[in-house]
Amino acid sequence: MAVPRTYHLVTLGCPKNDVDSEHLERLLTGGELLPVIQPEAADAIIVNTCGFIEQSQAESMEAVRALADGKRDGQTLIVAGCMTQLYGGEVRASVPGVDHVFGVGQWQDVAKLLSVDVTGIHDIPERTAKVTGPSAYLKISDGCDAPCTFCVIPRIKGQLRSAPAGMLVKEAQRLVASGAKEIVLVGQDLTAWGEDQGMAVASGLPGLLRMLSEAVGPDVWLRLMYAYPSRVSSELVETMASLPNVVHYLDVPLQHGSEVTLRRMKRPHNLERVHGFIRELRAAMPDIVLRTSFIAGFPGETDAEFAELLAFAKAIHFDHAGCFLYSRQQWTGAFEMAEQVPDEVKLERRDRFMRQQQRIAAKQARRFVGKTLDMLVEGEGETEDHTPVVAGRTYREAPEVDGLVFATGTATPGSRVRVRIEEAGDYDLFGSIVTRK
Ligand code: SF4
Repeated sequence: MAVPRTYHLVTLGCPKNDVDSEHLERLLTGGELLPVIQPEAADAIIVNTCGFIEQSQAESMEAVRALADGKRDGQTLIVAGCMTQLYGGEVRASVPGVDHVFGVGQWQDVAKLLSVDVTGIHDIPERTAKVTGPSAYLKISDGCDAPCTFCVIPRIKGQLRSAPAGMLVKEAQRLVASGAKEIVLVGQDLTAWGEDQGMAVASGLPGLLRMLSEAVGPDVWLRLMYAYPSRVSSELVETMASLPNVVHYLDVPLQHGSEVTLRRMKRPHNLERVHGFIRELRAAMPDIVLRTSFIAGFPGETDAEFAELLAFAKAIHFDHAGCFLYSRQQWTGAFEMAEQVPDEVKLERRDRFMRQQQRIAAKQARRFVGKTLDMLVEGEGETEDHTPVVAGRTYREAPEVDGLVFATGTATPGSRVRVRIEEAGDYDLFGSIVTRK
């Protein structure tokens, strides 16, 4: 392979993959490779794949095949990430155009293959930081030690490894210096942060939040995604409520609302405890926004168990909730379980859940009407009658997964404005800009 000068990187999957890709890009640009938008213009094409569920594996394979089909002479196609960690041999065998395969966390090896001297790249030059919108992701840990029987992530990512606090503080400050107004903390399980370094649950994430809050200053939002239900402690609730820049938003994937199903999933199954910490969160932060996700059609799920899920979700009334179809994964405890649920039953249950959740989400959204909120502007445009309008997010909406706010007025993408909410849709809010900040 001739020494590559340009690369084209495709990232699939979740925000944690975005962070990994950004890390790889820093190595590549530090080695003076140039990113290009069109794959045909690249010397090296890299795909950072997702292997989480069958559907994401299929999407990753489709992307790899399309890039392999369009490859021209002299181009190198590299496939890396979660899917190849599990199925590297199969990817190579089924797509002959693939030149190199890497698993997860092998970004230095990818860079070395592309003739980058990674030993010379010690720090992150600010000019190469990639903050394109007002938000940036900060991956505080990787890997997971939980035994969830539907999940292949521990096999892909390995055991929990928390990033050192000092490094995270430095990284957060770099993101702010590059223009980020919101830092979204991600990891397989945020609330486990520090456990591998001997910290107790009560002191890990709350302590890190205090350090980050001070380091980034009061105007930069900190948002928490992926909290593990049994680790939402009183200390975490108090810390969130007391720090000025931790947004009142929490994503706690609960996966099910039946204790029997949760036991089979090997998930925390004390639902009274879940109701307890949700009461605590709402008492400490009456404006808190809660997101969760559930799985429909886990092996053995009966109609009665699914009805319990519906009742549980209705009782808590989450602002945002997703429902995934159970996906049978090799190397997981549930793979061999008897009583796999037929696809049509899974689909029907998921649809039933989403119909219920749509009504709940719309009702929850209406409580924002009449409020004036800070909003991060992500885009601008105009309505059919040429009224200028901006789209963005308040603390109620996490990037990429929740709805948006549309507000009449003008503002630059990346800026922050005050918006008065005048109307609520099922998922989005509508209003007008009252002041720019
Ligand atoms: S906590 Fe999340 S990442 Fe870890 S095994 Fe369970 S579902 Fe998978």
